[in-house]
Amino acid sequence: MHKTDPHVRSENLYERARRVIPGGVNSPVRAFRAVGGSPLFIARGSGPYIFDVDGNRYLDFVGSWGPLILGHAHPQVIEAINQACRHGTTFGAPCLAEVELAERVVKSYPGLEQVRFVSSGTEATMSAIRLARAVTGRDLIVKFSGCYHGHADHLLVAAGSGLATFGTASSAGVPAAFVAATRVLPLDDEQAVRDLFGREGAAIAAVIIEPVPANHGLLLQRKAFLNLLRDETRRVGALLIFDEVISGFRVARGGAAEYYGITPDMATFGKIIGGGMPVGAFGASTAIMSRLAPDGDTYQAGTLSGNPVAMAAGIATLDVLERESAWEQLEARGARLEQLLAPAVGTAKFPLHLVRLGSLLWLSLHDEPTLRRAGTLSVDAAHRFRKLFHAMLERGIYIAPSAYEVAFVSLAHCEDDLQRFAAAFAESVAVTGA
Ligand SMILES: *Cc1c(COP(=O)(O)O)cnc(C)c1O
Repeated sequence: MHKTDPHVRSENLYERARRVIPGGVNSPVRAFRAVGGSPLFIARGSGPYIFDVDGNRYLDFVGSWGPLILGHAHPQVIEAINQACRHGTTFGAPCLAEVELAERVVKSYPGLEQVRFVSSGTEATMSAIRLARAVTGRDLIVKFSGCYHGHADHLLVAAGSGLATFGTASSAGVPAAFVAATRVLPLDDEQAVRDLFGREGAAIAAVIIEPVPANHGLLLQRKAFLNLLRDETRRVGALLIFDEVISGFRVARGGAAEYYGITPDMATFGKIIGGGMPVGAFGASTAIMSRLAPDGDTYQAGTLSGNPVAMAAGIATLDVLERESAWEQLEARGARLEQLLAPAVGTAKFPLHLVRLGSLLWLSLHDEPTLRRAGTLSVDAAHRFRKLFHAMLERGIYIAPSAYEVAFVSLAHCEDDLQRFAAAFAESVAVTGA
């Protein structure tokens, strides 16, 4: 049985799951809709590997979508979690670990003086936006097409058609009134920014951007564009929010703010700072953060916020990153992987480009070599990705089941792992054909 169908247990579980969980998953991209087939149910992870419930082993380049920068089940992180658990899992009262992690985050990130912990990236951006509106006394939020900031109502807004900067809801159930308070601009379009700020600058509370947009491929921005956002927000008295949920503690200790040398007014974090546990955070200067309850008039709270087990996992992760000079190593490994993949890219019979910043790597199937704005894959290219994904999976390599997602290199990936990725990639590109 195993020989004919190596995924029979995953398939059976998926069937069970679909009866009691919508679509069988608790987050949509997990369902493999873009690539077809049945999602793998994962039994365990170790270092660079994940093992599915059928006992198949895969070299994992998803890393739970970013948090696992040290790989799976890192001994120091697991030990920290175990120790914290033994003392209880939640108190709903202050604890030492949240102060320690807050000190670490504040010290690491440019311009940050205070931070508040929440339980997801979505909560972080949602709370940052409420605070920005409170501080400025304005309602309008500006976001960019191709950036993802979680699923809060005012951020689930997509670009409208044509020249209109008025958006449309990118989900059912988002009130028109929320959409009306959000403006959506294309990335890398300085004129569109100038026009909007000229027209509505006095009404803008905040601009939110992924300074390293990594949720619609990897749409690396020119520093001049980020600088323009810094200048224009300052000019009109709006706040600049860097959503560093992926880039924070990954592209540099101080995230994209350090990498580009641009200090935003507020920043949001998640993923890595939870060490694989559910954590988010948002931070700013003390002047801004003091508007939050209980000192200020802006309400924000969470039963499990600053959870001691999650805080312990975050602290342990940051400890290892510091001890292993992670950021130089991650850059070296990313560069090495890019170098190993280059020959296969060169021989591909279809449009294929590598886009990389540090340990974030995008295998782009778009025609353009350097995309800076959100693009839509042709039907042919989407079909090619589907083939490429399954060819990689058959060769024991797990990449994200979507052409718009990046690959995450971790400290657990050693030279052998990178070479195995490259060998599988070369074969997969060849069988993907023209
Ligand atoms: C993942 C992500 C979020 C949302 O975080 P969740 O923990 O999934 O709610 C927000 N912003 C960015 C940039 C992200 O990558």
